[in-house]
Amino acid sequence: MMDTLALFKDPFSFVSGIYYGIPTCCICSFISTPINERSDEVKQVCSEMKVGFVPCSECAKRILDGEVQPDELIHNRHAKKEFPRSLSPSDEFQNDDDQFITFIRLLDEITINVPEDIKTDLRRRIGCTIYN
Ligand SMILES: [Zn+2]
Repeated sequence: MMDTLALFKDPFSFVSGIYYGIPTCCICSFISTPINERSDEVKQVCSEMKVGFVPCSECAKRILDGEVQPDELIHNRHAKKEFPRSLSPSDEFQNDDDQFITFIRLLDEITINVPEDIKTDLRRRIGCTIYN
């Protein structure tokens, strides 16, 4: 289920999360939860384990309970580097002119039902982030 609020709040982080195959619940939680408001489970996972992303509270609980391995949460990953990632998208694409195109393609996949004028704004905001 896509959280449009998180997408509009931080389209670059949202699309980056999709790029890395991070679950949507964790992407949305990462965008909407300030660092100092993260739950104890999230803090524990981030400090004690190499998970490669910041999980949401529910996924952090499942990881701590041994119910799931972090890499089992990763699906439809577009990044070529193996999980857990060590580079940011801009590092990974450092010498790649197709960076913007890749992100726009992912954005278009995510926002199939979003009106074109809103998509144009999101594309512009992702572009500003990438080219800054
Ligand atoms: Zn999650």
